[in-house]
Amino acid sequence: MKFFLLLFVSLGSIVQVVAQRACGTGAYWQTLLKQDPEMRARYTRIEGAADELLPVSKKSQETGIAEAPVITIPVVIHVLYQTAEQNISDGRIQSQLKILNDDFRKRNSDTSLIPAAFASLSADCGIQFELAKQDPEGRPTTGIIRKRTDQVSWQQDDKMKFSASGGNDAWDSRYYLNIWVCNLNRSLLGYATFPGAAPEKDGVVIRTDVFGISGSQSSSYSRGRTTTHEVGHWLNLKHLWGDADCGDDGVEDTPPQKTFNSGCPSFPHVSPNSCNPLPSGDMFMNFMDFSDDACLHMFTFGQRQRIQQLFLPAGPRASFLQSAALDEPWNFTDVPVNENNAARSLLNVFPNPASEQITLRSADRHILKEGAYSIYDFTGRLVISGFVTDSRYIRIHRLKSGIYLIRIQSSSNSLSAKFIKE
Ligand SMILES: [Zn+2]
Repeated sequence: MKFFLLLFVSLGSIVQVVAQRACGTGAYWQTLLKQDPEMRARYTRIEGAADELLPVSKKSQETGIAEAPVITIPVVIHVLYQTAEQNISDGRIQSQLKILNDDFRKRNSDTSLIPAAFASLSADCGIQFELAKQDPEGRPTTGIIRKRTDQVSWQQDDKMKFSASGGNDAWDSRYYLNIWVCNLNRSLLGYATFPGAAPEKDGVVIRTDVFGISGSQSSSYSRGRTTTHEVGHWLNLKHLWGDADCGDDGVEDTPPQKTFNSGCPSFPHVSPNSCNPLPSGDMFMNFMDFSDDACLHMFTFGQRQRIQQLFLPAGPRASFLQSAALDEPWNFTDVPVNENNAARSLLNVFPNPASEQITLRSADRHILKEGAYSIYDFTGRLVISGFVTDSRYIRIHRLKSGIYLIRIQSSSNSLSAKFIKE
């Protein structure tokens, strides 16, 4: 009896250790940094820029927030399922989008639970999320891809990000936030890339049962905050303790923290041997700590600043401001596929005016796959030429402002259109 009691107590403590928020991002990112020197160089530059962020007074930050437009991130959800239950409903996906939008816009109803000592630091990050309306080919999409897979469970090895290994390839990560929802192994809730990752791996992976509002009474992670936390990493936010004993998260207004918190601490919570001298203790209700979903409520102004910096010109996520993923899609089904159809003579360029890149649309799909293009300025001088690739994106960022003509040609057709470079 004594033995069984002892065993029970020991198991109880093991379960408690396992029950901390299992975010794999720290270990995953360290592995990538070791494996990929080019990525390490990119990330070092991004971190260097983040370190140069000047402390800004709260008042001037608030003024800046009033002026800054809200940034909308197009999202594509890759649902990889092996059982019918894992093929989660559209409603469940919508519930996750709402949580992301509430948390990053400070519209979550539980902001009222932030202790007074931290309430004035709680910030609207000025970021929102929307399911993509068009795919990388310009076709209509719901922004949700469902794919049956034979894989019973997934590891932190990126196989879900590639069709060749039973997952699903990322959509162009310059213009889409890719979120893979799959049956990650039980010791893992999710993991993410920081900015600077290889484009085909860039994005967030979330375990199916903790994605969206699951309604599970027994789970500490049933309110969609795992995705808020992992998207926080994708937006360059680190864990509050900097993944080290009293490490640095690169944010000015989060208190130093010895290590992660778990469960639902009560305020004020000061860790033993804490490096935090403040009586208010740890900011355990910050989305970048490991507390339970029900006890996470806020990002800070400093975290907002790190996020916003990614979208400045030349910032690592600035390409999202040029994304066409939320534009109304070109409806291919409206155009009868007929060799003699007048629609085949139409070439559409979007966006127009454009500043970074243009995408081409035409009912003649052949010319878009294999055509050669030439861009001329208003004097008729050839300025850029090349072949149209499957992505149909053409970079025009080096062109001067003005009006240009683009002509594409295949063996059987020739199309042209004007566009404006901003
Ligand atoms: Zn994390």
